[in-house]
Amino acid sequence: MRIPEERLERYRGLKREFSEEDHINLQPIQRGGVLSEEAMRAILEFGDGYSVCDWCPPKSARLDAIETPPVSQFYTDLAEFLGMDIARVVTRCREAKFIAFRMLGTPGDYVVVDGLAHYSSYIAAELAGLRVKEVPVGGSPEFRVDLDAYASKIDEVKRETGRLPAAVLLTHVDYQYGNVNDARTVGKIADEYGVPFVLNCAYSAGVMPVDGKELGADVITGSGHKSWAASAPTGILALNKSLEEKVLRRASVQGDLTKRAFAAKELALLGCTVMGAPLITLMASFPEVVRRVERWSEEVEKTRHLVRELERIEGIRQLGVKPKSHTLTHVETEPFFEVSQRHKRKGYFLYDELRSRKIVGIQPGLTKHFKFNTYGLTWEQIRYVADSFIEIAEKYGLNVH
Ligand SMILES: *Cc1c(COP(=O)(O)O)cnc(C)c1O
Repeated sequence: MRIPEERLERYRGLKREFSEEDHINLQPIQRGGVLSEEAMRAILEFGDGYSVCDWCPPKSARLDAIETPPVSQFYTDLAEFLGMDIARVVTRCREAKFIAFRMLGTPGDYVVVDGLAHYSSYIAAELAGLRVKEVPVGGSPEFRVDLDAYASKIDEVKRETGRLPAAVLLTHVDYQYGNVNDARTVGKIADEYGVPFVLNCAYSAGVMPVDGKELGADVITGSGHKSWAASAPTGILALNKSLEEKVLRRASVQGDLTKRAFAAKELALLGCTVMGAPLITLMASFPEVVRRVERWSEEVEKTRHLVRELERIEGIRQLGVKPKSHTLTHVETEPFFEVSQRHKRKGYFLYDELRSRKIVGIQPGLTKHFKFNTYGLTWEQIRYVADSFIEIAEKYGLNVH
C-alpha cells in the first residue's frame, strides 16, 4: 500500500525530547548508555545494514570469527575484561538471560531468582519454559536481598521436584534501590550445590569493576545500551568454559531434501547476533569503558554528595543501603508530594521546575519518591543539581537544614 506523503512527513528530521549536550539527564536507565565520541563517529561509518560483514570468513560464516573489524578479538577481550572465558554479544541483557535459561534448563525446571529481579528475568524464564522461585527481600528502608536464603530455596526446589534448579540468578545491582549485592555469597552457595550461577550485571558491568572469577559467576549477562556507552540493542553473554558446550551448542538440524546442515552455527544465537552499528558502538566505546570502571569510586562519591545535599531537605531520605555504593538512587520525597497537593500542576510541578533548570530524567508526575542516576556527571553538574533541588524546596517553603 502507498502511504500518503503527508503521513511520511512525521519521519522527517527525527529529534529527541531533549539534547544530551545542553541538559543534565538524570534518567536512571540512560546514564551508562551515553555514547563515547568514538562510538558516535563509528555509527556513521557502520550505519549500513550488514556493514561489519565485508570480511565474513566463508568457512565459518559467523560473526564471532570476523577479524576486520576486530569482532573476534573483541569477544576475547570482552571475556577477559569480565573475568570470564567466553563472550558473545547478543541483542539485550534479557536475551542473554533467555539463552542461558533455555540452554541450561529443561521445561518445568526452576530457576531461583532474587525478589528484586528485573521483570525481564521472569519473562526470560517463562519463555524458556522454566518456573521461578524467589529469594525474599528485607523491608524498608534497606530492602536487602536475603542472600543466604539461596541455599534454602535450592533445597525447597529439590524437595518439591526431586531435582536441582536449572540455575540461580542474582541481580548484581537491582534496578529499584541500586543496592550492590555481594555476589560471592551466592557464588559459593551455587558452587556447593553444583547449580550454574547467572549473575545479571545490567547495572554493574561496564560502569563498575566486575570480575566473574572472583565473584564465582558461571554466566554473566550485561546490557550494552544501559552500561557500556553503546547504542541499543546490545547485550552481553559471558560464560565459563565449563558451560560452553551446553549454552553455545551447535545446530544439528538438517534439511530433509537438500540434506543441508549448519554445524558451525551456534544454535541459541541463531547463527549470528547483533551486527552493524550497535555492535560497533560497543566496540568503539570499549577502551573508554575499560578505563572508566577504574573511576567508579569517584562516581559513587558524587552520588553520596548529592544524597547528603538532598537529605538537607527535611523529610527527604534515601532508600536502600546507606551509604550508597552505586550511582542509581531511590529517594523518598514526601515533602514534594505535599507541595504537589496544593500546586495547580499537581505532580508535574517538580518536573516543570527541574525542566526549566534544564534538568531532565525524573519521571514526570512523580513526587512521592523517584529514582535518579548520576553516573558520568561532572562535579559541577552534581552541585548544580543539588543547588536546584534546594532552591525548589526553598521556593515552596520546605525546611532546609
Ligand atoms: C535494565 C535492566 C535489564 C534490561 O536490560 P536489556 O538489555 O534492555 O534487556 C535487565 N536487568 C536489569 C537488572 C536491568 O536493570
